[in-house]
Order: sequence, then C-alpha cells, then structure tokens
Amino acid sequence: MVSTTLAATSFSLLRNYNANVRAFAANVRAPLQHSTNYNSINFLLPLHSRRSLSRVSVTNDEEAAAKAAALNAGSEAPTIFDKIIAKEIPSSIVYEDEKVLAFRDINPQAPVHVLIIPKFRDGLTTLAKAEARHGDILGHLLCASKIVAEKEGILDGFRVVINNGPGACQSVYHLHLHVLGGRQLKWPPG
Ligand code: 5GP
Repeated sequence: MVSTTLAATSFSLLRNYNANVRAFAANVRAPLQHSTNYNSINFLLPLHSRRSLSRVSVTNDEEAAAKAAALNAGSEAPTIFDKIIAKEIPSSIVYEDEKVLAFRDINPQAPVHVLIIPKFRDGLTTLAKAEARHGDILGHLLCASKIVAEKEGILDGFRVVINNGPGACQSVYHLHLHVLGGRQLKWPPG
C-alpha cells in the first residue's frame, strides 16, 4: 500500500517535472524561432551575441525546414509549385512561356527575387536528378533567367541560384532557379 502510494507520488512528481521542463524549453525555443521576438532572453546577452543569436536562429529555421522538406525529396508528390502552375494559388507572374513559369518569391531576399520553374517537372525534383534528356529545359531555364533579369532592369548585376538538397537549404522539391538582384550582392554567399 505504502509502496503503491510512493510510486504514485513519484510518478506524479516526475510527470510535473517533465511538464515543467517542456514548458521551459518551449519558452526558450519560441523566442528563438521568431528572430523579431526573442527579447525575453536576448537582454541577457552582450550586443554582439544578440546579433549572432538572431542570425543563428534564422539560419537554424531554414536548415530545419530544409531537413523536413528533404524527407519527401525522393517522392514524386506534387509540391506547392504545382498549385502555382495550375493557378490554384495566386502568384505574381513575371514571365511565362510554354515551358517555364517565373514568379516573385513570397519571401524575397533581394529587391528582385524571382523563381523560375519548369512547368513539367519531369523528375527534376533537384538539379542532382538531371540527365542528358533534361538539357533542353535546363538551357531554357537559364535563357528565361536572362529574360527575367532584362524585364526587371537588373541585367548589369544579378545572380542565379539553384539550391540542391538539404545541405543547400532546398525547401521545395521542384527544380527552380532563384533570380536575385536590385541591390549589391555579396560574395561569397552564406
Ligand atoms: P528553396 O529554398 O527550395 O531553394 O526555394 C524555395 C523558395 O520558394 C523559397 O525562397 C520560398 O520563399 C519560395 N516559396 C515557397 N512557397 C511559396 C509560395 O507559395 N509562393 C511563392 N511565390 N514562393 C514560395
């Protein structure tokens, strides 16, 4: 009887302890996930650490999202870009032809940030899946990036990026080119 009560008390203490640890962890983690809202622990840190904490937080979010997205990397399942191609969800289209669609990134990293995607993915979830038969569409995508840069008035300075796989923070598994410009771009990239 005594041992049953003791066991129940210990279990209850352990459960409360676990709940408290989870609540504490959530309180610490939540501000880190939103770099604009991490003041509750940020004030404890010197200024240079606050800046790096903000950068680390954003970087970790991108890496975590990319790792999560990579779980479906091998799948041929439709992505958000299929809905954009089908015009089921709106996008700000910059250029379109029979093979590619170019639209503004929802989370721009530069004044001009346009994504260019093949309308028919044809196995190109990543650039690493490219085969000889993809030569035409890959060339077409590059030519489209020049057209987009011209339309956006950034021909004198723009960058074309393809993130490949979780190690490069790819988050959507439908090949896409990022066309970035409209400000001085730094080198090397992060
Ligand atoms: P990745 O990280 O895979 O190289 O790039 C994917 C890009 O797609 C990201 O820059 C992200 O902001 C963008 N993106 C994700 N979902 C949407 C969306 O629904 N609409 C638009 N316009 N861009 C999106």
